[in-house]
Amino acid sequence: MALRDIVILPDNILKQHSDSFALVDAAVRDLADDMLNTMYHAPGIGLAAVQIGVLRRMIVVDVAREEEPREPLCLINPKIIWSSEETSEHEEGCLSIPDTYDLVTRPAEIKVQYLDRDGAECERHCNGLLSTCVQHEIDHLDGVLFIDYLSRLKRQRVIKKFVKAAKQNGDNS
Ligand SMILES: [Zn+2]
Repeated sequence: MALRDIVILPDNILKQHSDSFALVDAAVRDLADDMLNTMYHAPGIGLAAVQIGVLRRMIVVDVAREEEPREPLCLINPKIIWSSEETSEHEEGCLSIPDTYDLVTRPAEIKVQYLDRDGAECERHCNGLLSTCVQHEIDHLDGVLFIDYLSRLKRQRVIKKFVKAAKQNGDNS
């Protein structure tokens, strides 16, 4: 299991669409293991493949509390097949947008269809933090970031901060 570098805003790959997997083989399972390893190391509660520079439809999540045993979930080709009308608001952050948090409103509950690490077809009802996290990660597969839900002013402020930081890092190297 390798630790991968996490792509940070304003890297353009974060705005790109990810492709589906045709099948789940050993290489796909290796990618899942790398993603989980990278997510736990960060630490974070969710990671999409695009965040380590791989434009494929896979997300990993684990919303277990720190004192609880790990509950890793790997969702391959995830698809939301139902969302509740009821919404909920959570403070979100993103490993690709460090130290930035804001409230985002999303459907409170969803039903998601996906292939697991063994390639088995699964369906899962998600609520609470898991629902928010899965929606946030699936958004990544379509090039959508949580800051896209904020006001234009807030979003521009965040992007400006990261463009400036990237420029400064470039100047220093
Ligand atoms: Zn994210």
